[in-house]
Amino acid sequence: MLAYTYIEKGLFKLLEKPVPLIEKPTDALVRVTLGSICTSDLHIKHGSVPRAVPGITVGHEMVGVVEKTGTDVISVKPGDRVAVNVETFCGHCFFCQHGYVNNCTDPDGGWALGCRIDGGQAEYVRVPHADQGLTRIPEGVSDEQALFVGDILATGFWAARISEIAEEDTVLIIGAGPTGVCTLLCAELKRPKRIIVCEKSKERANFIRAHYPDVLVTYPEECVAFVRTHSEHGGADVVVEVAGGNDTFQLAWQCARPNAIVTIVAMYDRPQVLPLPDMYGKNLTFKTGGVDGCDCAEILRLISEGRIDTTPLITHRYSLSQIEEAYRIFENRLDGVIKVAVSQ
Ligand SMILES: [Zn+2]
Ligand SMILES: [Zn+2]
Repeated sequence: MLAYTYIEKGLFKLLEKPVPLIEKPTDALVRVTLGSICTSDLHIKHGSVPRAVPGITVGHEMVGVVEKTGTDVISVKPGDRVAVNVETFCGHCFFCQHGYVNNCTDPDGGWALGCRIDGGQAEYVRVPHADQGLTRIPEGVSDEQALFVGDILATGFWAARISEIAEEDTVLIIGAGPTGVCTLLCAELKRPKRIIVCEKSKERANFIRAHYPDVLVTYPEECVAFVRTHSEHGGADVVVEVAGGNDTFQLAWQCARPNAIVTIVAMYDRPQVLPLPDMYGKNLTFKTGGVDGCDCAEILRLISEGRIDTTPLITHRYSLSQIEEAYRIFENRLDGVIKVAVSQ
């Protein structure tokens, strides 16, 4: 089969590899029907994910059809259409039992697919702990509708959940990239009083204006003043930092009102400064990232009810044989790309 492979820092290649085998009774083999490229794949390519293993097939955003299951798998069977979770987790350890599946202590726990073990930018993928890592796609939900459930949409859903958004809140989301938009869609489910999105790219700001006309849009330079003008208590009640830019962490806490919750979803390239003397007396609560992707069934239910729709994010479509080109467009943010869909 064809598999897009991490060779070394700066180099991915489409290689011919054998179809993976079931290795453990809890594994499933999934025939990938549609996949995508995530910024985390680019982090691997650029060598900033030290635990990524050269030689592995990359890719951790995909949907497909179960081809084979190990003897202990009970939640899915061959022929089922499934969304694959970016995280594999055992379901039994202390962290899994508390819903902190990102911190699962199993050797395959956490983000393994397409990082430490072979992922899904390929024709087939072996999914460990299939009972936890695969979610059946409801009738009537297409592959494109379900494509982001296991990764960026799970992240947005988790970010909205831990941010404790209430109906009287002004919510500021920093960053309108794909995960920022997913966070926006999930924040909307909580019906806050208003949502403000801060985005430096004009193109992405315009995407928000075009698709979500109720959302207020601002730019980083004017963000602090804009949020103060458009909130009741000197800042946002909830800030979700999804951008991961050079100054966006500082912007996040500066835009928060006293006693706000500031949730950090972004993955930074370098350490950030927490200037405690400057924020003394502001009594902020910080929550930090690493998605707990354990709500996929609920997310798929919301999609089937028409309450979440991420299909506008898919701006470009390719086949697996064209994946080099898909990366070129996505990595260089060409041609107004937000997300690509790669069909197998
Ligand atoms: Zn990802
Ligand atoms: Zn676990």
